Amino acid sequence: MNRVRTRIAPSPTGDPHVGTAYIALFNRCFAHRQKGDFILRIEDTDRERSNVQSEKDILSSLAWMGLQWDEGPDCGGDFGPYRQSERSEIYKQHIDQLLDQDKVFRCFCSGERLDKLRQQQMQTKQQPGYDGHCLQLSEGQIAARLAANEEYVVRMKKPESGDCVFEDFLRGEVRISWDQVDMQVLVKSDGLPTYHFANVVDDHLMQISDVIRGEEWINSTPKHLLIYQYFGWQPPVFCHMPLLRNLDKSKLSKRKNPTSIGYYRAMGYLPQALSNYLGLMGWSMPSGEEKFTLEEMTEHFDISRVSLGGPIFDIEKLNWLNGKYIREDLTDDQFAAQYTQWAFDHQKVKQIVPLLKQRVEKFSDVVELGGFFLNGIPDTDSATFAHKSLDALLQVKILQFTLWKLEQSNEWKRDIIESELQSLARALDLKIRDFLFPLFVAISGKAVSTSVIESITILGVDICRARLRQAMETLGGISKKQAKALEKEFNALA
Ligand code: GLU
Repeated sequence: MNRVRTRIAPSPTGDPHVGTAYIALFNRCFAHRQKGDFILRIEDTDRERSNVQSEKDILSSLAWMGLQWDEGPDCGGDFGPYRQSERSEIYKQHIDQLLDQDKVFRCFCSGERLDKLRQQQMQTKQQPGYDGHCLQLSEGQIAARLAANEEYVVRMKKPESGDCVFEDFLRGEVRISWDQVDMQVLVKSDGLPTYHFANVVDDHLMQISDVIRGEEWINSTPKHLLIYQYFGWQPPVFCHMPLLRNLDKSKLSKRKNPTSIGYYRAMGYLPQALSNYLGLMGWSMPSGEEKFTLEEMTEHFDISRVSLGGPIFDIEKLNWLNGKYIREDLTDDQFAAQYTQWAFDHQKVKQIVPLLKQRVEKFSDVVELGGFFLNGIPDTDSATFAHKSLDALLQVKILQFTLWKLEQSNEWKRDIIESELQSLARALDLKIRDFLFPLFVAISGKAVSTSVIESITILGVDICRARLRQAMETLGGISKKQAKALEKEFNALA
């Protein structure tokens, strides 16, 4: 039997997501249970959206959770490079092979033509997708267009009728009609591969035996299987895991639940409790025990025990489990040491001290003034937000716009945050003092506090997001309709 090799293949385009840790955990347990390898591969072919900071954060968050990998961009291995942006030459060789064999084709269609096509398909309620226009080009026509240096993408050919049928390890037979599958772009006009192509080439070359990933990829699997077939490669076993859900069963989203691993770290959860909690998502120990270590989970791991009903990510339950870890696993000395390390991280303290020094008269004033740097979500109610001229709706708008602005900015620096908030205040025609009022309350729990811009800078995006969201809730929340209207208004400001 071939060696078991699994992988987690995050795209570094945002905050490290708990869903990534969940999939990593199951891949790791599956591989290690069978003395196999667990690989981390960075899928950064989308050059516009990928960024180095996100990659760093993903690696450090997974490592913090104890989900170390055996091969990866940081530690190497026999199948590298493990970052797709460093594998362009490999993809080029592979696509050339498929072009030579006529398995794929060059498409010269302009963006305009494709937009029109999409519009027509929408009007006539057809399945959107490429219509095969460039399949008709003769060799001579292709050569002429290449000679004229026309831009093109490479698309996959696909069967015209019938179904793609495959076995999913957890779901059994899956049947997807080829009508539903697009002639996927495999290589973009900049010569870089899309996710689908790079993912398959790499899974094959890295000898991945089992692809364990989120169920959102099921509909992509026919495309992937077709690529395996084009090359004559043996596909891996596919296993699509149920997605994590919010309490209301919708797909886990940061609108309803903090999704960034950074948030749980900043809030002072224990990494082993978080990873244990993720192990309870759709899975259970044969003994029914809910508290277990990663080693115990690995030892008893059996993927066929995964249940497909969408697992609910419930913070209350995580809190309960984390509390259990604190009480049962930490000695008083360990608690003291770990708490001190979490609360008084030297870098953070160094930033906070100048803010406190200006305002306190004695050390015993410190907690009253700066306690919010250590607390979770401030305890506020609508009265805390009472203001002489700003009503609740306007405050919600300020908070939401601030959140969007902060989330857009990829540099979390004081000066940038300050100038962005100032320009927002101007755009909303508000005095900066008034504009900052709801932010003060949301972030520190009080109308007067240390500089809110400094505080936001120090607290970081994960904690600020959670506090701004909670403040919006306290102020009455916003409906989907209101959110849409606000989004429109916000986009018009930019
Ligand atoms: N890069 C994909 C992601 O971001 C990987 C999906 C897969 O596992 O095939 O989730």
